[in-house]
Amino acid sequence: MLDYLDDFWTKHISIQRGKIAQSTHDEREQFPADPGMVWFSVQPDQSFYFSAVRGEVNLQSVPKADYSWGGQGCIGATAAVAWKQGENCTWEAIAWRAYERHGQNVRKVCQQTLEKIDEIETTFLSRDPRKGRALVAPRGPCPVLFGIRSRVQEDAQKSGELLQNAEHTEPSVGMRVFSTNQATDDHLSKSMTAKVRSVQKYAKGSCQIITDKGDWMAFAESGSVKHLAQWLQSGDIIEGYGLSPDVGVIHLEKLRVVSATPDRFRPMCSKCNVRMKSMGTGQGSRCPKCKLRTDDAWDEIPRTPPFSSWVQPPNDSRRHLARPLEWDNQL
Ligand SMILES: [Zn+2]
Repeated sequence: MLDYLDDFWTKHISIQRGKIAQSTHDEREQFPADPGMVWFSVQPDQSFYFSAVRGEVNLQSVPKADYSWGGQGCIGATAAVAWKQGENCTWEAIAWRAYERHGQNVRKVCQQTLEKIDEIETTFLSRDPRKGRALVAPRGPCPVLFGIRSRVQEDAQKSGELLQNAEHTEPSVGMRVFSTNQATDDHLSKSMTAKVRSVQKYAKGSCQIITDKGDWMAFAESGSVKHLAQWLQSGDIIEGYGLSPDVGVIHLEKLRVVSATPDRFRPMCSKCNVRMKSMGTGQGSRCPKCKLRTDDAWDEIPRTPPFSSWVQPPNDSRRHLARPLEWDNQL
């Protein structure tokens, strides 16, 4: 067994070292590949998996494997081994291209069949409904032809076979269904509840919500999350989920309003029906017309949030670990 792994490592994996992958996200800095491979005779504790998906871990903190090969890649490999497939796991049918097609960027995947697969209730992230673009095929020169994701193992298998055998799909050399942590929310720990102090708006509508529990960031691509953040006012109570790359900062992935503070206005003058003006804190208010004075009174008008429940970014701006909100309404 170890001889086989040694041989596999030398022939197929170690040769990837130092290569720089072509990125579909231009703004992202790419690092040379530093693959890794691990062998454990006993499964390492799952806590390492959660550390790896929720934060940053370095090679020194990785549980020691019985045998390991390579470098940084051992972190992800160990996290994968430590993962215990839970009830919320999902499935992905992956098909590989014929060897002579590796390196070609254009893939042929039958679009009509893909549309049918997208209609199966348990499949997800097959197509982007807003742009009509297929999301199953990677865009670089990698050996993967497509990946079909489903919440149900049989549906992943069935859909994968359907697409593999479709007339307009290029030939592939094989297909396997894997259990995955995609759309499990495993990267998120518990939600947080906080009181809004103020909201700073930046370019393209991105927002920084300053709360009594640190700063919560809603990015320009976050769609409804950003729109809800823009609506917030001081005193609103909000609940959110997100990753915390720095202490005291949350990058929002899900947000909802728990309670909204009402808008407050000075009352109307009982004689002239003109809005009264504040005389300063604790000084009451005065009618600008007849100068009638009243005590410190307010008219309160409730604010209704633009979204009554949780919101999350559109599916093409979500992390692949993010669980779609609509599943919770279906299941
Ligand atoms: Zn008046």
